Amino acid sequence: MDIILFNTLGREKQVFKPIITGKAGLYTCGPTVYDYQHIGNFRTFLFEDFLKRILIYNGYDVTHIMNITDVGHLVSDGDEGEDKMEKGSARTGKTVWEIAEYYTKHFLEDAKALNIIPPTKYTKATDYINEQIDMIKCLDDKGYTYITSDGVYFDTSKLNDYGKLAKLDIEGLEEGSRIQFSTEKKNKTDFALWKFSPRNEKRQMEWESPWGKGFPGWHIECSAMSRKFLGDTFDIHCGGIDHIPIHHTNEIAQSEACTGKMFVHYWMHGAFLEEDSGKMSKSKGEFLRIETIIKKGYAPLDFRYLCLGTHYRKRLLFSWEILDQAKAAFSRLKLNVQQIRNDAKKNFDQRDASLPKEEKEKFTQAVNDDLNMPQAIAVLWGVIRNENLSSAEKKNLIDSFDRVLGLDLDKDNKTGDEIIPSEILEIVNERITAKKGKDFKKADELRGKLKDMGYEIVDKKDGAEVKKIRS
Ligand code: AMP
Ligand code: ZN
Repeated sequence: MDIILFNTLGREKQVFKPIITGKAGLYTCGPTVYDYQHIGNFRTFLFEDFLKRILIYNGYDVTHIMNITDVGHLVSDGDEGEDKMEKGSARTGKTVWEIAEYYTKHFLEDAKALNIIPPTKYTKATDYINEQIDMIKCLDDKGYTYITSDGVYFDTSKLNDYGKLAKLDIEGLEEGSRIQFSTEKKNKTDFALWKFSPRNEKRQMEWESPWGKGFPGWHIECSAMSRKFLGDTFDIHCGGIDHIPIHHTNEIAQSEACTGKMFVHYWMHGAFLEEDSGKMSKSKGEFLRIETIIKKGYAPLDFRYLCLGTHYRKRLLFSWEILDQAKAAFSRLKLNVQQIRNDAKKNFDQRDASLPKEEKEKFTQAVNDDLNMPQAIAVLWGVIRNENLSSAEKKNLIDSFDRVLGLDLDKDNKTGDEIIPSEILEIVNERITAKKGKDFKKADELRGKLKDMGYEIVDKKDGAEVKKIRS
């Protein structure tokens, strides 16, 4: 079955055609490690994880590179202002190298807790300075650069299709609006490839280069590292929508000017997670982390379930209420799945059960249609409620779907070390139905019955959680 992806380049859904049959090269812009990643960042990383899992589900051998930005990202996203890493260092009193290590460690832990499959390789910008210098040399040799008092710049007027990804209206760009400029820039959209260390000041991160001591501009790392590991042209490149007008636009300019080839075939961008006050961002200083939601009593996978419920190209307005709803729905899902797993274990030899084609196709159709995860979740619930499927068939379908969903549904739902028995789950479900039907007397009776059987039920807004009573 075809995989359809919405390509920002062209602004339309297109059938995914890989460069090499059966293989997919994927590059996703990773974290800037001057602070913790917030749940907005993780919404983007989760969308990228769904994409990768879908490619794998369809049989692709995926080579996935994700960078870790530990140098060069300035607070403006352009070429002015402080280096985010140096700013983080001043804030925390640690060296830039220490904060890079510290925040990378936290990012990796959170990503793991969210069941995000690690990339084939994480590439740290500071590990590939030579490759970045080589690419700037390439651009220099081809006449795309010029030097100002603070760095080596890319002359965007030398490319006749600069800004094609963002459909930038170059003429219409107001000076000082979206991109800040230095007065020495020849064109408003020109950007730094290499920044010189300030005179009379030693930066914590600086390197020798043919143009003088300094550090790479932010965009060049992705061009240089993707080229090293995925080649001059590769299949898919992702990030959040904020990357369209500057970062990805400039990656395309550098890579295509240097190689003379098309850089990337499919560009995919995730919409923001926002709060009432607007986009969640690290620069605002206050933001929600995975640890924050854990402290409030949610599991990281509750957040994953929440993200599955909104299409990646739609804004996700975060609130504690919608996380509550996601948690409740997810706990109902786990209860139902556990019941199915128990039944399947009891009644069938699982090896005999088939994977019903129709349901599997419905699921594949949903995920292959530009990652329609809300629809995929609806298919999953449909399977759970389908009375014509045996428990073993359901279990096999759920296990298969979970390769994409990543919700640990293929594992037994345990309280402590114990699997919750089916008869308990049945009563829990019966009680949820009773409560929904406002039959509170029956609900109370069933709660008592569960208690007698050694289980405690904790009510949630839209469901319930069951725990073994520990004596
Ligand atoms: P950064 O660490 O700032 O380089 O961002 C890492 C990734 O998170 C990038 O792909 C950004 O586009 C993305 N991102 C930043 N803020 C948000 C947000 N509020 N919602 C979703 N994605 C975001
Ligand atoms: Zn990038």
